[in-house]
Amino acid sequence: MLTGEQHLAKLDTPQKVVITMHHKPDGDAMGSSLGLYHFLQAKGHQVHVIAPSDYPDFLHWLPGNDQVIEYTSNRRESRALLSQADIIFCLDFSALSRLMEMKDVVASSPAQKWVIDHHLSPESFADLMYWDSSAAATAQLIYTFITSVLGEKDSITEEIATSLYTGIMTDTGSFRFRSTTSEVHKIVAQLIDCGARNWQIHENVFNTNSEKRLKFLGFCLSERLVVLPEYNTAYISLSREDLIKFQITTGDTEGLVNYALSIKGIRLAALIVDRTELIKLSLRSLGEIPCNEICSKYFSGGGHLNASGGSSLEPLEKVIERFKSILPEYKELLIKQ
Ligand code: 5GP
Ligand code: MN
Repeated sequence: MLTGEQHLAKLDTPQKVVITMHHKPDGDAMGSSLGLYHFLQAKGHQVHVIAPSDYPDFLHWLPGNDQVIEYTSNRRESRALLSQADIIFCLDFSALSRLMEMKDVVASSPAQKWVIDHHLSPESFADLMYWDSSAAATAQLIYTFITSVLGEKDSITEEIATSLYTGIMTDTGSFRFRSTTSEVHKIVAQLIDCGARNWQIHENVFNTNSEKRLKFLGFCLSERLVVLPEYNTAYISLSREDLIKFQITTGDTEGLVNYALSIKGIRLAALIVDRTELIKLSLRSLGEIPCNEICSKYFSGGGHLNASGGSSLEPLEKVIERFKSILPEYKELLIKQ
């Protein structure tokens, strides 16, 4: 879906552009943003990428990473850029609350807001919206935005291809989720033709574990994994002390929830982490089990049907109890074969 198409003509002349994405950006948020950054910069626009928070070390090799401004450590510069921009691209989110502390600065900027995203239930703050909840990744939408909407297929450079490949690879769980259609594979093939080195990208993202992180994974699986066979559900919960003991930083808990979901027969998995300021939940499911409904109804969050997140201000034990108390409501779906 493309709305506000008439605004596209703005890109015919040089604009002051800021690209931003959701708080604690993942591979898709950063890959999309840097892919678009390289494209717009080559077209003569003045472009800045502002991340609302820090993001995992395993994304710091991305081309253009050294140009990314982190809001929480550069508030003054970020505010000036956001308030002086002509266009603010909002990538991989469609609810302003996902900008956390940066929300008000973006909302009050006179800049046009252009949203490119694949999350369900978008808010209506955008001047231009390119949105498709069936897309596997926002990076896929950036690819079609550049090639189909703007008709700039020949402008996909190696840097753009590498960034977008990373976004699609991470948001599809390395091309294995249901969202990985033949169309996604066709786009990925074109990105490889444009210079994305698939094996190198995989190495950079997945084979950069530290010994500490691997031992932490062992701890989570042996000490913190709980299986509830009567509900085909498994969860991992982590206390503040656990995070301190293993010196956990942003990104170290990424992908943990998938181990719980990988147990045979498990159809719903949760990762529940005490991040001090709040308890953060990550939910994953199979089939029709609606993670997004569970997160929006009970944990002030949302996301996709099979992958969602939310949070709570209650203590960890209370949140675990609440999570378990919800399961009877979904029992029919959970035990369906
Ligand atoms: P993750 O579990 O990897 O943090 O997030 C899974 C999905 O849920 C992502 O698509 C993410 O955008 C969405 N999500 C995560 N946390 C939140 C949240 O607090 N609110 C909303 N609306 N979506 C979230
Ligand atoms: Mn995404």
